[in-house]
Amino acid sequence: MTTRSPDEQRSIARFQALVRIPTVSRLDESETDPAPFDRFVAALPELYPALHTTLDRELVAGHSMLYRWAGSAPSGAPTVLMAHYDVVPATDDGWIHPPFSARIVAGDDGDLVWGRGTLDDKGALVSILEAVEARVLAGFVPRDDVYLSFGHNEETTGAGATAIVDELERRGIRPALVLDEGGAVVEGILPGVAKPSAVIGVSEKGITSLTLAVEQLGGHASTPPRFTATARLARAVVRLSAKPFPARFSPTNLEMISTLGAHATGPLKWVFGNLWLTKPLLLRLFARLGDETNAMVRTTQAVTQLTGSQAANALAERATATVNIRIAVGSSVAEAVAHVRSAIGDDGVRIEVLHPSEPSPVSPTTGAAWQLLARTVEQSFEGVVVTPYIQLGASDSRHFTRISEHVYRFSPFEMTAEQRGTLHAVNERIGVDTWLRGVRFYERLLGAL
Ligand SMILES: [Zn+2]
Repeated sequence: MTTRSPDEQRSIARFQALVRIPTVSRLDESETDPAPFDRFVAALPELYPALHTTLDRELVAGHSMLYRWAGSAPSGAPTVLMAHYDVVPATDDGWIHPPFSARIVAGDDGDLVWGRGTLDDKGALVSILEAVEARVLAGFVPRDDVYLSFGHNEETTGAGATAIVDELERRGIRPALVLDEGGAVVEGILPGVAKPSAVIGVSEKGITSLTLAVEQLGGHASTPPRFTATARLARAVVRLSAKPFPARFSPTNLEMISTLGAHATGPLKWVFGNLWLTKPLLLRLFARLGDETNAMVRTTQAVTQLTGSQAANALAERATATVNIRIAVGSSVAEAVAHVRSAIGDDGVRIEVLHPSEPSPVSPTTGAAWQLLARTVEQSFEGVVVTPYIQLGASDSRHFTRISEHVYRFSPFEMTAEQRGTLHAVNERIGVDTWLRGVRFYERLLGAL
């Protein structure tokens, strides 16, 4: 049993209280219940009184929150700490402890807080609040302005973060550093590397969905044409699956391999250290090693939805397949669409592009913002190797690349592969001590601003 200070116990209780508010984002926003979001917004000033007397808060696009902590001698280049407090839906089904219970349960490696959002992303959001509150109480004032940007619909449209960026842009603000959720402290990213690594996202893949549609005269299924709309669509899906996008290392991939590879043991150290020779071999290895390494080196495609006729005895007048595409950094939405079109090779299949978002620009791994972040991570997590990587999923931070060249994605928590698997799934949970280390990470970062 770990003994924790009264301050730590109060921090944990506030975290639990906020996890218990079911701020669930629904894909169809008209189905999202606004009441928990109202409650969450109202709870913060009660839980963090010092923060709320020192920082200005404004509500943007409904329930997104933008805080400004005025610096003592601002140079005009503030820092933005980001997080979101909406969570994906969860019912009790499949959860060992209910998703909005925030129950603390002893595990093999210490106590864990269970609940939806503990990792994604209330864990970070509440850590930021805790760190700011502690700093304010200690009389600290940052030199430059610090903004806190808390989105309320990251899991759906990201409209809250977009509106916050619009507002900051209107005010002519160019942040020197933007930090959002993303990478974490993880193990086993590269085979042969035993040390834990702190992976910091310097970019994120693009995202779009394509609707493949085949239209045809409907009719009774008793007199079908030789080639039905559904068969034509199925042929397109099969052809597409047979043609994955080409694999390629981006400069960030290579930087990650050499950074982490320097800490490998055995013959792999040589392999990672001589990329000029081993690159083609490693590329084939990444493509085959697992789904995660494969997604690192190419644009991926997944057919996620299929539709056909409404009735068992009626021919489909319109058959559709939705292809979700995650676009590699260095490629583009246009390139992805061209690849799909040529893979399908059938003008009878219409391609409609939905919600296209290009890959993000790559933030530098040199300069003041990166140095500050990397140093803070190294000081907070003993023995970690800090490396850039390309984030596979999308986050709200991509909207900030419009107003800052220094956008980084890192959640200051140690996460096992199993825990990473609970994001958007059942049994999401975080170690209590892991979370407290995250609070201290933000405190340290703020102290350097
Ligand atoms: Zn998230």
